[in-house]
Formats: sequence, C-alpha cells, structure tokens
Amino acid sequence: MKDQKIRIAILHFSHETVTFLPNETTLEDFIYPGSPAKGEDLLRFDPRSSMGGFVKVAREFSNVELIGIESPLWPKTGIGSGWVTQEAYQHFVGKMIAGLKLEGPFEGVYLCLHGAMAAHGVPRPEADLARRVREVVGRRASIAATFDLHGNEDEAFLEQADMAFAVKYYPHYDGYLQGERAARTLVRAIRGDYKPVHKTIKIPVISPTVLQWTGAPPWMNLIQQALVWEAREVDVYVNIFFGFPFADVPDVGMTVQVLTNDNAQLAEHVAQDLSMTIWRMRDALLNSTRIYSIADGVARARQAVANCSTPVVLVDHSDRSGSATWLLREIIAQNLANTLIATIADAKATASLRATHAKAGDPFDMEIGGLIDESAGQSVRIQGTILAAVENRGQFWVCVEFGRNNVLILSTYLVQIMEPFSLNALGLDIGVFEVFAIKSRVHFRRGFDDNGFAKTILLVEPNQPLLGTTFLDKLPYKNVKLGQFYPYGSPTFSV
Ligand SMILES: [Zn+2]
Repeated sequence: MKDQKIRIAILHFSHETVTFLPNETTLEDFIYPGSPAKGEDLLRFDPRSSMGGFVKVAREFSNVELIGIESPLWPKTGIGSGWVTQEAYQHFVGKMIAGLKLEGPFEGVYLCLHGAMAAHGVPRPEADLARRVREVVGRRASIAATFDLHGNEDEAFLEQADMAFAVKYYPHYDGYLQGERAARTLVRAIRGDYKPVHKTIKIPVISPTVLQWTGAPPWMNLIQQALVWEAREVDVYVNIFFGFPFADVPDVGMTVQVLTNDNAQLAEHVAQDLSMTIWRMRDALLNSTRIYSIADGVARARQAVANCSTPVVLVDHSDRSGSATWLLREIIAQNLANTLIATIADAKATASLRATHAKAGDPFDMEIGGLIDESAGQSVRIQGTILAAVENRGQFWVCVEFGRNNVLILSTYLVQIMEPFSLNALGLDIGVFEVFAIKSRVHFRRGFDDNGFAKTILLVEPNQPLLGTTFLDKLPYKNVKLGQFYPYGSPTFSV
C-alpha cells in the first residue's frame, strides 16, 4: 500500500458571510488578479495557512501528487460583504466539478474551507460542495477538509466528506497545523491506515464572536479540554465550532465534532463529554467579556488615564465597514487627549487626498467616515494638520493631528489593528499615546493584551441596532429562530 501512487485534488472555497450586509458577494468579487487560482498558484496562495500546512506535509509522502483545481480565493470584499449570489456560487462550484472530472481520477480530495459561507438558495454550502465532489470522485475516494472555528456546521458535511479539521484558537493561530493534520490523516486514510469514524453534536448555544477569545477562561478551558482529549487518545481529532452568528443560516450555533480511527464508541464518548462541558459552561461563555456603551467606555478611558493606568485600548468591536465614527465622535465630545484613532475607513476621502497630493504639513479640514450604512453613523468634521500621507500595504493612509495631541488615521478600507507597533510603519511614535481607539473583535489581543502592552482594555459598541452587535436579538434573522438557543430562549440539552 505504501508504494501506491496517490493523486489528491485540492479545492478552495471560503467566505465568512455577514448576511445582514446590504452588498451581496458577487461573481466579480471573486475575480481579480490571482483569483481564481489553479495548479501551483492555488497551492501556494497562502503558505502560512491551512493550505500551506496541507501542501507541506502531503509532499513529505512519496508517491503523492497534488493537483490544484481552479478555485476562487477569498472575495475582494474580504469579510465585508453579504449573501453570496446564486450565480457566484453555482459558477465556481460548476467550474470546480468540471475541473475534477477533467483531471481525475483521484484517490483523495482536500477542501480548503471556512465554514461560514452563506449562499442564496443553498442552505449548507460546504456540505453541498462536498456532496457534489463525492458524486465525481465516488465512495472509494477520501475527502478531507479544513475549517475555521467560526464555521456554521452540522452533521451534513461529514455525511458527504470523511474528515474535518478546524482551528482551535481565536485568534486563529493554528491554521497551518490543521492543514498538516488534514494531509497526514488523508494520506493515511487513502492507504487504509486510518478509518475515519465521526460523531457530530450540535449544542443550542449562540454567541457573538467578540466573546469567543480563547486566550483566557472560559473559552481557553474549553479548548484545553479538547486538546487533552487529543493528547490522551491516539488518533482522536476534535473540532469545536463556535459558530458565526452574523450569518442567517439554519446551522448556526455551536457544534462539536469528533473523529476517531474506527472507534465509534470513543467518538461518541468524547463528543458527549465536550458538548456537556459547553452546556454546563454556557453562562460563563456568554459572560466572558464585558462590553460597554461608547459613552461609558470613553468615560472609563478618561478615568484610566487619570489613574495612570495607561496605555488604554478602546476597542469598537462592532464596526463591520471600518467607517464607523461613533467612537471618534465620543472621543471628541469627552475631549480626550494623546489619543490615537486607528482607523476610520473612507475610500472617497483618501482618494481625493491622494489625487491632490496631500503631504505632511498640509492643513486638514474634512468631513470623514460614516454614511456607508446605518451602522457607520454620520461623518465627522476634523480640522488639523496632516502628519503623514503614505501608500502602504495596498492602501492610502493619512495621519491627521487634531485636538489635544490626538492623531486620526484615515485608511482606504477597514483596518483591524492587531499590533500597536505595526503603526510605526506610518512614521508614528507609538510611545506618546495614552489611548488607542481601534476596530477589532479579538485579533487585537495578540498585540495589546497577551503581551501585557495595554494596562486598560475596554470593549465598546454603540447602542444603536447594528451589524456586529452583541445584541443578536436586534438582528433581523429570517432563518434562525433565536429562541431555540441559549441565552435567547430556554432550550434544553442532554446527550
Ligand atoms: Zn474565524
């Protein structure tokens, strides 16, 4: 069996769809230089991701050939677009299926997925893709996938595919590792050395993503328990899907998935243990992070400065467009000083500043931000002096000094500041700021929290009904019945 030649097809189709956004994710959004990709271009598109890990390990086996089937990469809109249109979904799946037929036969397929795609007319896109791949490659082939823990998944996917490997950490540090595992287990399965048996359990718990940071209890404890199961039992793999509540799809909420090597009883046992753990911890999971109103958060930031508990990081976790001005407006209203606001996305303003060759030293007087949609609020007039105007990482950045030693960074697109020192690239001295007002949910923890940088961390969101809100009951769900989930109803759960 070891000398058997193995051909593995590789496909990619990923999106994290915020179905409440007005702009749909269209065919054109997936088409840009580099996407769709096939062959080596697909295999190499993100070497540090699950794809990178998969390719690295799969190529450590002799006699394994990887074939990159033409697939769309992430849409240009990133995570800033709504429902994937029927046209886009069917177009790319059709292309992938045609590619599989043309290049086959295959002993194995690797699907590089996210899990929170929402497509019009297809209730479970990842499971639908797996079903259609299965039709082509047949029951004898093995299908493995990697997922983001924000995937909305239920048993449908593994009814079609054989194996799934989801990242465990949020921020998602372990994509490469899960890709490595997927490759090793897929090759073993093809060679008959791993017989995947799985158990999937859905737990009626739904949570806003801002609460799901795995760097501290209780989410850290939950992941630790999954890691312990993987450590103590040979060939056991555990996926805990936290779910993505901003996609209005039928399989939202938390899901536990356990994979074993031909041991159904063990899969059942581990899945039951972890799902009951989630159920017992549900209250703590939902109360892991305190969220303040914007006004309260800014007042607390003032207080922290007065107490020398700096640097303070004020985090608007709810902004999905990058253009939201609620926090900026309140910082001005409460007259904060030595504050860095990073960033307000305003494509129009940055384009006009670029066109007029804005440069350091120029006076600045513009209405900026807001207006993109209701959740972004109104634009705000800023009068000050331009400190820097630079092209960096594919967008135009303008730093404006205003008020009492405050600096506002204007960007072209939504920017999630994860590391304070990344802003040094714009020529700013990070050491002079007492308050950092940023847009992020969890990713900022790596540069502001895990390393002890910020003395005070305040997560805020506006009171208005918004997109990325923790008040899920303010969202206009059509397909999800919130009352069936804790904490919005009184569901019962047992295994
Ligand atoms: Zn994620």
